[in-house]
Amino acid sequence: MFCFHFLAHRLKWFNPIHQLHHTHVETNVYSLYVLHPIETLGFGFIWLFLITILKFNFLSIIIYLILNLSYGIFGHLQKDIFPAFWYRNNFTKWVSTTKFHNDHHKNESRNYGFYFTIWDKIFKTII
Ligand SMILES: [Zn+2]
Ligand SMILES: [Zn+2]
Repeated sequence: MFCFHFLAHRLKWFNPIHQLHHTHVETNVYSLYVLHPIETLGFGFIWLFLITILKFNFLSIIIYLILNLSYGIFGHLQKDIFPAFWYRNNFTKWVSTTKFHNDHHKNESRNYGFYFTIWDKIFKTII
């Protein structure tokens, strides 16, 4: 997800497609659904490709879909719902938050991770 999102910002042909999502600088719960159809299909084809070549079970797919939707909603809320300790704890600080993705909408050169912050730490793209 980090790579896909990073490329969405860095590839000249992909960035205009992803910019539809960034028309929401101040996010809200609907921002998650503001995606260009090409980007949505791209996500879908990557997902179908992976479940075609990798062994999976339906429970893992259902858990993934629930987590993905939850991250999408939490990441686009207007107010941060994560408690202060979340940002200090050595385990939870690596899990993405509302503030983390909101900051990406305000500064598109940072915070590409969707589920975790560790990738931005590794690639030095974290705010
Ligand atoms: Zn977003
Ligand atoms: Zn973006």
